[in-house]
Amino acid sequence: MEKLIITIAPTGNIPTKELNPYSAITNEEIIADLIKCRRLGASVAHLHVRDEAGNPTSERIRFKELVDSMDEAKLDMIKQVSTGARGGGNSIDWRGQMLDIHGIEMASLSTGSSNFPSSVNANSPELIESLAEKIKENGLKPEIEVFDTAMLFQAIYYQKKGILKGPLHFNFVMNVRGSMPATPKNLMFLVDNLPKDATWNVSGIGNAQVQMITMAIAMGGHVRTGLEDVLKFDENGSIDATNENLVQRVVNIADATGRAIASPDEARHILSLN
Ligand code: ZN
Repeated sequence: MEKLIITIAPTGNIPTKELNPYSAITNEEIIADLIKCRRLGASVAHLHVRDEAGNPTSERIRFKELVDSMDEAKLDMIKQVSTGARGGGNSIDWRGQMLDIHGIEMASLSTGSSNFPSSVNANSPELIESLAEKIKENGLKPEIEVFDTAMLFQAIYYQKKGILKGPLHFNFVMNVRGSMPATPKNLMFLVDNLPKDATWNVSGIGNAQVQMITMAIAMGGHVRTGLEDVLKFDENGSIDATNENLVQRVVNIADATGRAIASPDEARHILSLN
């Protein structure tokens, strides 16, 4: 089976020190966690940034600082920036302002709208097509964020129209309240409907984490983990997750099932990056 790509999503838009004391909020905290996660085997860094007050932002300067600090730390990871809807603004210019930063290799792209627990994951066709264009112009590979089934089929439509260039790479975000439930049947349905040359990860949100990562590892898919997706390590919610213990758990499951872990260069090859 192909080697396993582990993506670490250390921050997201939701974690705070109140929700989880190990939340990586500042760029310094993010870098410290990424270094530990790279040592354990994570090869892709899915990046969000915060402003001075700790609130989510898409500000280019913040992303630039983070990317520069990763380079200074000689951290060889695939840098994937978020263009998501909760980065403090919803215009095309706001959400795509970081896409021209040198050294970025991937960007997230949702190909439809859905609900988060308390807000709308708003992605109009115009916004999706413009972000896709900007991602292409900058030579980046999109990671299609699929919160619901329609987003998979919309991405396939965009590929046929030439708006997205294959082979496509998907992340199935499962168990966000208001979006697609994390069931084995739902995951099988998504995988069954992928284009033949596509690659995929799964993000099992909250207590869907262990079942979804285990299925993805067994099925030949890839895995995303991190405090963006999981705040509590165990199902009872008595142990705080850390970026490190979440990656370690993925590695343990992969080891137990005989799946080798991809290095950053092997991940670049599997994902057909430029
Ligand atoms: Zn994200």
